[in-house]
Amino acid sequence: LPELLDVEYLVGLPLVAQEGQSLGALVLGKRSEPFASGDSEFLQVMGGQAAIAIENAHLFQKIQQAYDELKELDHLKSEFINIAAHELRTPLAILIGYASVMAEESTGEDRERVDIITRNAMRLNVLVDDMLNLNYLETGQAQLKIEEVVLQDVVQEVLRDMQAMADEKSLAIEVNIPTGFPPLQTDRQKLDLILMNLLSNAIKFTPEGGHISLKVRRHRDMARVAVSDSGVGIPPEERDRIFERFYQVEDSLTRQQGGIGLGLALVKSLVELCQGEIRVESEVGKGSTFTFELPLRYPQ
Ligand code: ADP
Repeated sequence: LPELLDVEYLVGLPLVAQEGQSLGALVLGKRSEPFASGDSEFLQVMGGQAAIAIENAHLFQKIQQAYDELKELDHLKSEFINIAAHELRTPLAILIGYASVMAEESTGEDRERVDIITRNAMRLNVLVDDMLNLNYLETGQAQLKIEEVVLQDVVQEVLRDMQAMADEKSLAIEVNIPTGFPPLQTDRQKLDLILMNLLSNAIKFTPEGGHISLKVRRHRDMARVAVSDSGVGIPPEERDRIFERFYQVEDSLTRQQGGIGLGLALVKSLVELCQGEIRVESEVGKGSTFTFELPLRYPQ
């Protein structure tokens, strides 16, 4: 090796990774004078640094690869959701159509049974819509249709759809919107979805006899909407994660509630699309409050 490198003196140091496997060697050559005793210390330090740098580069490569694989998986998952949702749509529409015909023709106990079919088919429909909407948002296909929206009207409409769900569990829903609250420049359909998802979660995660409230206030140039419940609450370490897609606090195998963990991911994306923000406060066993703010005037 000295001849090959055209040097007189050589020192070498194996480069060892933290777990002990060998990464190579660092070789230093000198032409004229021999190495001094300090040089080996210097070499040791250099070798240590080089080993760390090589290890980091390997790690980075591995992380990059894992990240690419995750991205691919994520894409497949979105694709699957999209196809599944589209395929579920048609049979569901037929089911709801026939159920409404049957509802008109039936009375008494039969009518109650048909109503249960309709209600649950509608729930499925909301789920399918969530799946499709999230996909639109993620692929950047979602568009805003800004109009003047009277919050009182939207809330009333959403509550009409939710009331049956709340009644089933004897939950009281209290609404508090100041009279004369200014209309909002926003996308009505998106606001509908946001409220529907937050309220349906509040109903889902609140035990029988509890209460739910929807409070609207003005905060600077934003409308602030708070949906509170006296339900099970969310542990602090879960509060960020519940906004992730498919994340549910309770394991899907043991949980008692329906849903696939898309509602809050959708809500967050919708709020942000409408130039707003959302946050959650909660106490386990006491309840949760989801607060979102939307600009009163949509920024041009
Ligand atoms: P899902 O439709 O499965 O409930 P979401 O995305 O709407 O999915 O919610 C994710 C998770 O966040 C829920 O599974 C639940 O664990 C928790 N969560 C959401 N809203 C509430 C709430 N009001 N009270 C307690 N937990 C909640």
